[in-house]
Amino acid sequence: MTESFQTPSATSIAAGVRDGSQSAADVIDAAIGAVEAREGELNAYNLVLADDARTAAAAIDQKIAAGETVGPLAGVPVAIKDNMCTTGVATTCSSKILEGWVPPYSATVVERLAAAGAVMVGKTNLDEFAMGSSTENSAFGPSKNPHDITKVPGGSSGGSAATVGAGAVPVSLGSDTGGSIRQPASLCGVVGVKPTYGMVSRYGLIAFASSLDQIGPFTTTVADAALVLEVIGGHDPRDSTSIPEPMPNLTEALGKGVDGLRIGIISELSGDPSLGSVEGIAPDVAARAAAAAAALEAAGASIEHVSIPSSVHGLPAYYLIAPAEASSNLARYDGVRYGLRSDGPNALAMNAASRTEGFGEEVKRRIMLGTYALTSGYYDAYYGQAQKVRTLMIDEFNAHYQNFDLLLSPTSPTTAFELDAKTADPMTMYVNDVCTIPSNLTGQPAMSVPFGVGDDGMPVGVQVLAPMMGEATMFRAAAVLEEAARV
Ligand code: GLN
Repeated sequence: MTESFQTPSATSIAAGVRDGSQSAADVIDAAIGAVEAREGELNAYNLVLADDARTAAAAIDQKIAAGETVGPLAGVPVAIKDNMCTTGVATTCSSKILEGWVPPYSATVVERLAAAGAVMVGKTNLDEFAMGSSTENSAFGPSKNPHDITKVPGGSSGGSAATVGAGAVPVSLGSDTGGSIRQPASLCGVVGVKPTYGMVSRYGLIAFASSLDQIGPFTTTVADAALVLEVIGGHDPRDSTSIPEPMPNLTEALGKGVDGLRIGIISELSGDPSLGSVEGIAPDVAARAAAAAAALEAAGASIEHVSIPSSVHGLPAYYLIAPAEASSNLARYDGVRYGLRSDGPNALAMNAASRTEGFGEEVKRRIMLGTYALTSGYYDAYYGQAQKVRTLMIDEFNAHYQNFDLLLSPTSPTTAFELDAKTADPMTMYVNDVCTIPSNLTGQPAMSVPFGVGDDGMPVGVQVLAPMMGEATMFRAAAVLEEAARV
């Protein structure tokens, strides 16, 4: 029998630490204990930082004893996806190519969490360079779903989702390029947010596809997600794509309900063939999304189906744009500047040998696809065409947000699948992202909220989509869904 844990929320931990009713040291001890108790079966972490975490917790307790102010996440254990840089702590992207590399600086999000009093307990496993939907593409072996270890936790932020889903820590960070926060959140039964592109700094996030990548939180409650996003979000001059505007107040929005909001169910992602839905959305998942719509309607929102034809073209456009950007971003791993170096008779051979040995199969596939899509002669037909589709999607979604405050869909087409079920055929893996990719291409925010279980008893997440900087409204609906899912 595996032990089960249920971490208190970040909000309640921070309140308890700040008012002195519990020590950060005790909170961190409990979290490390829970992490270690399940790590053998989950493989959620590339590195557990037990000593560093205990030192950081002691420092927070000392500050409190000295009457100093501590931040809104005082003593809250957090886990960080291992593609975010951490000063003096190895950062691997779950790739052999970064073997032995230790970043000399921290990502802005890591600094902001620490400044708010959060305590990093470890670096979590991912699909190599965040390419995948199951965390099976890791050089360090797959992570497992905390609710059934024969199944995947989703990906690419599978480790971050698994450790929060296991109840070991209340907060982790992931990155979402095509769904890598929302899909694993859905499969592990936790809240996961992909913020508006530019809301959260990408400084120190190792780039996969720079025009799509965005960092966001995994939490057990909607209120915690709002709190963490308020801490990590907001303008950062070190990221040139960071939006120079103040963060919306998300915590304040939580209790406002959805009365009077207009919410559209995306027909193409509804699972209903008579509405023109794509194939592959499982009936039990579609039923949960429909139940979520009914709950929002009961809370006063008006619900309508809305056809967004371009949404189904997101998948092919993404699998050209993301690999194209990746092929460029990953050119820097040449055996000279970072990590692994394999021998060769000259520099070129050394470069090739390092990349051959250092990159896994999926990363190589993406580099080849992306390089091909960017080749002169094919550029217009592939990359250029995909960019046109992207513009079309932005226009179409923006037009619909004139009539709707929010949109709704399932997060993942199915519940968690068995390990190895989709590794043989990359296409079957890619279609997992059909519901999540549109928001990455448009830059708009979206989040997954747990909403019951499927026929197999595994968690199902519902996706709430919002227009640019529409997080406050998005969180209103998420809070209503969370409440409705409780009964
Ligand atoms: N599953 C998608 C991919 O493999 C998305 C990954 C991500 O969001 N990082 O590219």
